[in-house]
Amino acid sequence: MNCKNCGNLLQPGVTVCPNCNAPVDNTQMNNMQQPMGAPMYNTQPIGQQPKKKSHIVLWIVLGIIGLLVVLVIIGFVASKKVKCTGSNGSVTVYYYENEIIGCIATGNAYCDLDKLKENAKTNGIDKTIQTIKEEMQKSNYTCTD
Ligand SMILES: [Zn+2]
Repeated sequence: MNCKNCGNLLQPGVTVCPNCNAPVDNTQMNNMQQPMGAPMYNTQPIGQQPKKKSHIVLWIVLGIIGLLVVLVIIGFVASKKVKCTGSNGSVTVYYYENEIIGCIATGNAYCDLDKLKENAKTNGIDKTIQTIKEEMQKSNYTCTD
């Protein structure tokens, strides 16, 4: 390393040039004396870092899945439902505020979720639920809220 001011050859570690008394930037000097990028990486065995990273990714994915499961459960718990039971199956419609959020059919019963959602959009949720009850009762189903 040479002095920036006068070009005098400097000993490592000096803070002031002995020739012209100009201050010497030691941090820059130290960095230049070390081989680029070498020391940090060789201390760990190869292969340990990628394994740790994949674990983190796994936990993040599990966390997101867990969060989604909790949200779905909260959605169903907070929702209202109407359940219609007949001799050969049952239909349970879940709704929350003005939205049909789910429909579960058992046995020979079936439900068209898209149609129900569409109905709720055009006629409102109360009318839709009322229609479901009336339609199901015509087919000898018993509906409870
Ligand atoms: Zn100098």
